[in-house]
Amino acid sequence: MPETSREFLRRDQQHRRRYLRGLSPPRLKSPNIINKQVYGHETRRLAIQTLRHSIVVLETGMWAERTSHFSLSGIREMFALTKPGAINLGLGQPDFDTPTHIKEAAKEALDKGYTGYTPNKGFPELIDAIASYYEQYGVQAGQEQIICTSGGSEALHLAFEALINPGDEVILPDPGFVAYAPLTHVAGGVPVSARVSADDDFRLQPDTVADRITDKTKALVINSPANPTGAVQRHNEMREFVELADDHNFYIISDEVYDKILYKGKHVSPASIDPDRVIVVNSVSKTYAMTGWRLGYAIAPAAIVEEMLKVHQYIQACAPSISQKAAYAALTGPQESVRSMVDEFFARRSAVMHHLKGIADCVTPEGAFYVFPRFATSDTSFDITMRLAQAGVIVVPGSAFGRFGEGHVRISYAASQQSIDLAFQIIREQVSAR
Ligand code: PLP
Repeated sequence: MPETSREFLRRDQQHRRRYLRGLSPPRLKSPNIINKQVYGHETRRLAIQTLRHSIVVLETGMWAERTSHFSLSGIREMFALTKPGAINLGLGQPDFDTPTHIKEAAKEALDKGYTGYTPNKGFPELIDAIASYYEQYGVQAGQEQIICTSGGSEALHLAFEALINPGDEVILPDPGFVAYAPLTHVAGGVPVSARVSADDDFRLQPDTVADRITDKTKALVINSPANPTGAVQRHNEMREFVELADDHNFYIISDEVYDKILYKGKHVSPASIDPDRVIVVNSVSKTYAMTGWRLGYAIAPAAIVEEMLKVHQYIQACAPSISQKAAYAALTGPQESVRSMVDEFFARRSAVMHHLKGIADCVTPEGAFYVFPRFATSDTSFDITMRLAQAGVIVVPGSAFGRFGEGHVRISYAASQQSIDLAFQIIREQVSAR
């Protein structure tokens, strides 16, 4: 059996880690073990590149150990391996254009000369707009509790940097968004995985979290609606998470970037239950189809925002000025585009669930724009994904989101109905052919 490139990369990573910890000398085998007939030239090229990189790191000890704990996201890896012209159901961004009134606001900001640095925390009127936006969820936040960032990604990074000391543990949903474990490592912390299971519709369970708490627990990450599963936490679960945080003295980092992409009920922010225990992370990326504008924010207790601001000031200075003006227009302007985008996602979700009938087990997602099915095969997530990529459909292996994602794939329906229908013809052929 040829070793898969995923196995090779994992083994290579283990070698690197052990070496860096002084446990064993490097014994890296040649990447010839990768069968290019099965996995193609690109996989082989990536593997060789990784091997060369490892050798440079091992021989020179040039770079920080911190970044040796994780690799580039499996999602990017997937894109690198796919032939041109494939149907892309791997996307983590809406396939809609930014609404016109938002683009107009950006043009006006340019014309008016808003091209310099802004206050470090962001324009005061944008901070007020964020505060007003969160009032709909029962969260009351003052200016001193909000910081604008370069996307939700930077807000997450700042939250980890502000909270985590070396050795602190962070409980993460598994499968969960790819950035959480790397950001924990960057901050010197230890990721602790809390399994989310299809049996609970992929909702993180308070009992599971309780079992993972130790005296080193510093934070719990909650993501509702969730990437990659589309799960939406219930109010009573949020309340229990907050109670656990109060009882065991840790913080909740609540990633709410999909708050508006919700198919039933109302979004619940744990900050509405106890604002002193919660750092809310959000952005305009998904709601307003603005992923490239890089505009996010955090809402947290003032003392934590102060610490986040210190890091933000030195790594970023401020969020992009034009994007701040655009985000202000997004949050305060007409919301019709959001409603029609969510209606369209809802229709596509129904189509995807219909296509999956009889070929996969799949929990019906309640939010975001992903499904997380398990096909009736014993192949690994990576092998299924590779097979689909070679047949012309890009999806993401569930294992990219944590070890409990193995066996699943993430399919994004941020693609046209026509592409979805076409892609599922290929998927059906590929999974039925086994
Ligand atoms: N959180 C989750 C769960 C995501 O899926 C993403 C992007 O895919 C982000 C945060 C980061 O979003 P952004 O930095 O574009 O605001």
